[in-house]
Amino acid sequence: KVSSLEPREDHQICVCVRKRPLNQRETTMKDLDIITIPSDNVVMVHESKQKVDLTRYLENQTFCFDHAFDDTASNELVYQFTAQPLVESIFRKGMATCFAYGQTGSGKTHTMGGAFSGRDQDCSKGIYALVAQDVFLLLKTTAYEKLDLKVYGTFFEIYGGKVYDLLNWKKKLQVLEDGNQQIQVVGLQEQEVCSVEEVLNLVELGNSCRTSGQTSVNAHSSRSHAVFQIILKSGGKLHGKFSLVDLAGNERGADTAKANRKRQLEGAEINKSLLALKECIRALGQNKSHTPFRASKLTQVLRDSFIGQNSSTCMIATISPGMASCENTLDTLRYANRVK
Ligand code: ADP
Ligand code: MG
Repeated sequence: KVSSLEPREDHQICVCVRKRPLNQRETTMKDLDIITIPSDNVVMVHESKQKVDLTRYLENQTFCFDHAFDDTASNELVYQFTAQPLVESIFRKGMATCFAYGQTGSGKTHTMGGAFSGRDQDCSKGIYALVAQDVFLLLKTTAYEKLDLKVYGTFFEIYGGKVYDLLNWKKKLQVLEDGNQQIQVVGLQEQEVCSVEEVLNLVELGNSCRTSGQTSVNAHSSRSHAVFQIILKSGGKLHGKFSLVDLAGNERGADTAKANRKRQLEGAEINKSLLALKECIRALGQNKSHTPFRASKLTQVLRDSFIGQNSSTCMIATISPGMASCENTLDTLRYANRVK
């Protein structure tokens, strides 16, 4: 029934890992840096030699990716190897997607630039801004000028399997699938943007909407997926789309038994969506006959980005360097390893 929508053989997937520096809290607690990046595509995890409990001793574990960035890498460098190679594809009617995946506090939002605040523009230049910058550069080149494209931004959040518009006071939106199996987020705000600055204004607006009424920024953002899209339209019709996704934290609830019911349900929903995402990306890479898009709201709303002509995906798996994060870091690396 869905044969026309099966994944295409030309789907490109790039999987990278980015390690952040030890932060002040970890340094104060004398946490050890257990991650080394011996070359630009290898990540090694060292269980501390000082560990007393030898039953928990792990061999050094080594993982290979398309790229691995150590804690000195800038957002610009990460961008050059991940999202930047995909930007031009949206001018050629392509669909591009970039995911930031990892434990809460590992650097997803830092990488995406989602904590952007106009006061502090330069140092918070993240992937949202860098993609926008290249989109506006390409728009003016002779090759694409004549397409008469317009640029739009959308910004929404998926929380507990529901979609909320971050550019419209977190209005809850319906997701519909029409007869042609096209997915539509009904009423999603698409704001026309004419400059990087205007894109960043949307990021800032959405971000303030995302965190309003929350006691802590991370408390809520770690439980929801944030999707920022840069859309090209020609004559009012979709031409290409770049989706930039700051995923919910992948950490396991260590104290699930103690956690309240709401937290348990949130955790279950996040697990379900991250599992569905992994299965969908794997299916694309292997050109499998069945891609389980409907298994979660996240994969459902991103479906057109996966199956579109000339589609490409990159994932930036962010990891914390400390021994205290070892289990979550290994989970992240194993997940990233599975999707590549
Ligand atoms: P996440 O979105 O994954 O929960 P954040 O992006 O909010 O994590 O990062 C947590 C903290 O670590 C923030 O204060 C952020 O500025 C800092 N941080 C993350 N990655 C880096 C990095 N590569 N270099 C410097 N600081 C970083
Ligand atoms: Mg975050």
